[in-house]
Amino acid sequence: MKKVSIILIIILISGLIMGLLSACQGSEEILLIIDGDIEGNLLSVNLAEIKLTKYTYDDEGETVKTKGWHITDVIDRSKFLFEDSWIMITSATDGVSALIEGEITGTIFLYSDDGNTLSAKSIDYPPVCSIKNISEITIIAKETVNVGYKILTPTSTEYVSRGNAKLRLYQQTAENYSGSNVAYKYTLKTDLSVSSFTQKEDNTVYFTDYDIETETDLKSLSWENGGIQLNEDDSKKEVFGIATGTHKMIYDAYSEMVESIDNGQKVMFILPDGFSWEQTGVFSEYLDLMKRDNARIALSTHLSISPVALAAIVTGETPGNNGVNFDEGESRAVLEPLVPDIFEYAINRGKSVSYLEGTGNLIVTSVEPTYALSDEETYNNAKEAIASGKDLIFVHFHDPDDTNHEFGPLSTASRTKVLYIESYIEYLVSQFDGKVIVVPDHGHNTLYDSENKPYGKHGMFTHYDMYVPYYVFNG
Ligand SMILES: [Zn+2]
Repeated sequence: MKKVSIILIIILISGLIMGLLSACQGSEEILLIIDGDIEGNLLSVNLAEIKLTKYTYDDEGETVKTKGWHITDVIDRSKFLFEDSWIMITSATDGVSALIEGEITGTIFLYSDDGNTLSAKSIDYPPVCSIKNISEITIIAKETVNVGYKILTPTSTEYVSRGNAKLRLYQQTAENYSGSNVAYKYTLKTDLSVSSFTQKEDNTVYFTDYDIETETDLKSLSWENGGIQLNEDDSKKEVFGIATGTHKMIYDAYSEMVESIDNGQKVMFILPDGFSWEQTGVFSEYLDLMKRDNARIALSTHLSISPVALAAIVTGETPGNNGVNFDEGESRAVLEPLVPDIFEYAINRGKSVSYLEGTGNLIVTSVEPTYALSDEETYNNAKEAIASGKDLIFVHFHDPDDTNHEFGPLSTASRTKVLYIESYIEYLVSQFDGKVIVVPDHGHNTLYDSENKPYGKHGMFTHYDMYVPYYVFNG
């Protein structure tokens, strides 16, 4: 055989061996999930990359010598969001968990008998820490912090960090000591319902895919992939946040408009942009027709911004279903909903339609809006539409939102603007022979600039921008 051929064969064989070796190494991957209150929410750690430590333990009088991964070496791969945290080791078998201080004071080793499943061996922590078949290790911040899931009530925005959200699905069943090392045993609660999770009624769940589900009190939640999921009949949906206290949605207006159209009743929808539930309370002594007593409390969409909310109102579908939704910070193109809108519905039934906008369109609708340079012009257009006997009139007043942005929603300027629009609405209601639905698209938050001057912002998923008044008047 020629020298060259021999060299080639050697290269080939060594290549094969290298390939086999690396394949073996690949199968040695032992993955552990760390989730909860860590940077990035979820981390997959390959234990094969962490050095094994020799250790011994006593097994009924016999000293066992073995190797494992020291829990500190494993946990150190993640970055805690908050120094003061708990560590929760959870079993995939039955959800039984051990909770220990984030500052590890003793020794726990992780080991794998089969190169696949992971278990924990407690050396000087209570035996409850010897969790078999670990599903994950969850880091749970001790202090209340402004990160994670938001649970809204009409008057509050509560944050539940991811780690604490998982912990809410568990109950403490034991407290054990081994010397000064303490461990708490946790098991899954029997009641995993949404109302048990929030401790509130009338839960509306917002999902990460921008879908929304109302009346979820009795549905159950689970923890999966480092997040809270709502369990549907045959699927799970990832939760973004939960608003409580009402199942009335701004886009319920769609079916109310449909009802009027079907009954041969004229209907006018008026949208006072950015008028919040909070404002109906703070301005209560000034408001007349739009006082809180005349309203039901309703919820906006997420994001609580005009194009998204408007698309939901004119289609009756959630942002997840109608396709008009944006991620936070995403540039907002003028989108066309994927489903038919109320204008198309009315026109298909031989009704006359008038859609009165401000200076531009926020979404693409089946009918071209009539534009106006000011709310006053829109108001005049609305009076004209009423006079000409239109069956469906859709009126969008923009000024309340603009004033809220500039001066803050609780400012005198905003109050004056709201009262101005209210006077428009009062007159339109008095002139209209039919049903009038008045629903803002979203509310507003008061923020402060560097000079401590208030201004307004929305789209933040707080009770300030999510709760709005919902009025129905018979003109
Ligand atoms: Zn705005």
